[in-house]
Amino acid sequence: MIADFAMLPSAQQRAPALELRDITRAYEGGAEALVAVRHANLSIQRGDVVALVGPSGSGKSTLLNIAGFLDTPTSGSRWLEGIEIDDTPRTLEAVRRERIGFVFQNFNLVSVLSALENVELGLFMQRDKRKRREKARAMLAAVGLAAREKHRPGQLSGGEQQRVALARALAKEPAIVIADEPTANLDSANAHAVAELILATNASLGTAFLIASHDERLCAQLPRRIEMRDGVLHTQPETNRELVDICVA
Ligand code: ADP
Ligand code: MG
Repeated sequence: MIADFAMLPSAQQRAPALELRDITRAYEGGAEALVAVRHANLSIQRGDVVALVGPSGSGKSTLLNIAGFLDTPTSGSRWLEGIEIDDTPRTLEAVRRERIGFVFQNFNLVSVLSALENVELGLFMQRDKRKRREKARAMLAAVGLAAREKHRPGQLSGGEQQRVALARALAKEPAIVIADEPTANLDSANAHAVAELILATNASLGTAFLIASHDERLCAQLPRRIEMRDGVLHTQPETNRELVDICVA
């Protein structure tokens, strides 16, 4: 299936941004398989911000790689905006390129490109060069870095680099942004600023986020929290919107 994501009928637009159904991921090798994720069910609505918390080794990154279509589960199904996504390389590549924004612990910016060019990388679906540049500029401005567009990653602070990564992830208007430990390499002031920016862009653009972190301060700022222990999700289904206002106040 290669869906035309720009032409979704309205019923699909009301579907959850992402749904994981009965996902299990076992790593083979050694005497017995290591089961990193067990029968995980997760539904993330448009506009949701979900914190995935849990100790190191509990399976957060494994689940995020599956949620971001970077890795394929051993069993279970994945649904994006109401469409079941199959595991063919062609589909997975299209989904990652067009519908998923990624933010990583190490920022993953291209060191020889400027901040603006890095954001443009998220927009290579846009063939019109002028429109691509305009959109990238607007996204950099939205993360407060309009004055840094010519800087390369090495000339930016960690917090600024992560804001560029966030602008790149959001520029394609993804169904969901998958962020694995986005504040782990930041000091507390920058970590707080990135968390506030996530909440602000979520509020203005309505983009869903799934954020794995063991940073308690970050998670305290986020409205919905799911715990992972030994590969098992422990979901708190209700979304507490009021908490956002309290935490970023
Ligand atoms: P977390 O992100 O919560 O720290 P991970 O998803 O990275 O947890 O790891 C969960 C478990 O799966 C750990 O026991 C880890 O050693 C194991 N694991 C992760 N990736 C691989 C892999 N590629 N091959 C084998 N085992 C892995
Ligand atoms: Mg991890």
